[in-house]
Amino acid sequence: MTRYADLHLHTYHSDGTRSPREVVDLAREHGLDIIAISDHDNVAAYFEIKPYADERGVTLIPATELSCAYEGIDIHILAYAFDAFDERIDATLRRFREVRHSRGYAMVERLNELGYAITAARVDELAGGGAMGRPHVARALVERGYVASVNEAFDKLLGPGKPGYVEKARFQIDEALALIHGAHGVLSIAHPSHYPNKERVVVELLDAGIDGVEVHHPDVPNEDRELFSNLARFRGKFVTGGSDDHGAAKTIETIGTIRVPETLIEPVLRRMNAEG
Ligand code: AMP
Ligand code: FE
Ligand code: FE
Ligand code: ZN
Repeated sequence: MTRYADLHLHTYHSDGTRSPREVVDLAREHGLDIIAISDHDNVAAYFEIKPYADERGVTLIPATELSCAYEGIDIHILAYAFDAFDERIDATLRRFREVRHSRGYAMVERLNELGYAITAARVDELAGGGAMGRPHVARALVERGYVASVNEAFDKLLGPGKPGYVEKARFQIDEALALIHGAHGVLSIAHPSHYPNKERVVVELLDAGIDGVEVHHPDVPNEDRELFSNLARFRGKFVTGGSDDHGAAKTIETIGTIRVPETLIEPVLRRMNAEG
């Protein structure tokens, strides 16, 4: 029987709202047998839930989503099937989480100066010790009634160039490649339709050594799925897919909407099994 996968999920260890346990339970309900919890800059969910997933027959792939700088834009790259115990990955992601934390505080300060009375303590609470991000600041703004939704917070205040926006530290592509390949993992370009000049950028990143493209994602329309699948295939690369579920934080990207047959993500599974 074919098994199905969702390789793009978030929890409260980054900017999702679900617990890892809830994600595993929901995966089962939606007939998903293989999942990757790809929290931003954080692998904590893997360690938290591995035994629980094993007991339920859910294959859990070590994963994280890295924000990379490329031509001045933010490109998200999913890392899979690396050695979850790798010390360089642990130290590097911890450093990125620390920078996210000070950057979150910097955004609160800037918003305070603009008259939005949210507190760093509340944003901290919403982040719950995980990788802090703009969605946590956005939720604090919604709670205080300054905006009607997280989306509105991004549109008005937190998007690039908006008054509350503060840059965050990002990986260089070669740094991400060295870190993840050095720990026997693979990399896939997340939600490729998001990027300006997406076709050229995807080709350049694959040629630079990225291993795959996430063609099955709620924000990737059918015509792009075909385009990126072909670009990957002609280069001997693979495709991946996932829902990008963030729980209540986002409503379009929801677990169950993307179910990728395991044959498609065989290269990721092989890499994980090679790792033992
Ligand atoms: P950050 O990591 O702090 O730069 O924040 C980026 C995160 O914010 C992404 O991973 C998305 O999950 C989320 N995000 C980006 N744009 C929006 C939006 N318009 N509405 C809700 N969440 C968003
Ligand atoms: Fe996110
Ligand atoms: Fe992303
Ligand atoms: Zn994501």
